[in-house]
Amino acid sequence: MYGAIEAGGTKMVVAAGDENGNILKTARIPTGTPSETIPKILEFFEGQDIEAIGIGAFGPVCLDKDSADYGRIGKSPKLPWVGFSWKEAFSGTGITVAVDTDVNAACLGEVMYGSGKGLSDVIYITIGTGIGVGVYCSGELLHGMLHPEAGHILLPVREGDDTKGSCPYHKNCFEGLASGPAIKIRYGKEAFELLEREEVWELEADYISKALMQYICCYSPKRIILGGGVMNVEKLFPMIREKTSGYLNGYLDTAELKNMDNYIVPALCNGDQGIKGALFLAKNITGGQS
Ligand code: ZN
Repeated sequence: MYGAIEAGGTKMVVAAGDENGNILKTARIPTGTPSETIPKILEFFEGQDIEAIGIGAFGPVCLDKDSADYGRIGKSPKLPWVGFSWKEAFSGTGITVAVDTDVNAACLGEVMYGSGKGLSDVIYITIGTGIGVGVYCSGELLHGMLHPEAGHILLPVREGDDTKGSCPYHKNCFEGLASGPAIKIRYGKEAFELLEREEVWELEADYISKALMQYICCYSPKRIILGGGVMNVEKLFPMIREKTSGYLNGYLDTAELKNMDNYIVPALCNGDQGIKGALFLAKNITGGQS
């Protein structure tokens, strides 16, 4: 059995599952402070025959396995968690932990069990409360210096869009312009209350496509998978495919880009991509990967 944690700002999803990504037992624990939350997580895993636990965590988080800070949360806006270490939290249990970002875990879940199956180069983008990008490159999750934070690339602001943006760090980053909170700041309403207003989704698709054009040029993914609450608005997909092609403007000539319906796709794991990816991280660290 393997354990998995999908650590989010409002809740922690915990699960026990098998080597094939099947979830056998799961629970949701509200995210409070570490001292409130961690005992409940430990209790969930207690008495189960868990070999290793994979954790998809909000960041920034240290992912350098050789560092003493592996699994430690950095300057997160979730202040009680700054300096918290996932590795230390489980040190008394004898269970090995494998940590990655929440979006990298979700990306891995989709690569192993969803829309990215069989592909060596995939990016997974979640567009919801925030925007995060998981990058699977040449058959491995990309970390680099820390991990990609590609939700914070700067985008040209559409003329006439005078919104102040939702990101406290950047005036016009992708997350600041196109996350759920950004939509709320711009229109004063939640996304689900704006479904009939075409101009809302035209602008949203435009910002998303500007970002995708840059990811295609930088990461050269063989498929782009879009998930998160905002992407439940299905009519965004055809608009994004068309606009992304428009921004590429014929510059790249690949078989993948000739079939945009198969290139920019929704996630397939029904919201379980993060937890399934975390299970795979656990299996991977024990050498269970084939
Ligand atoms: Zn930003």
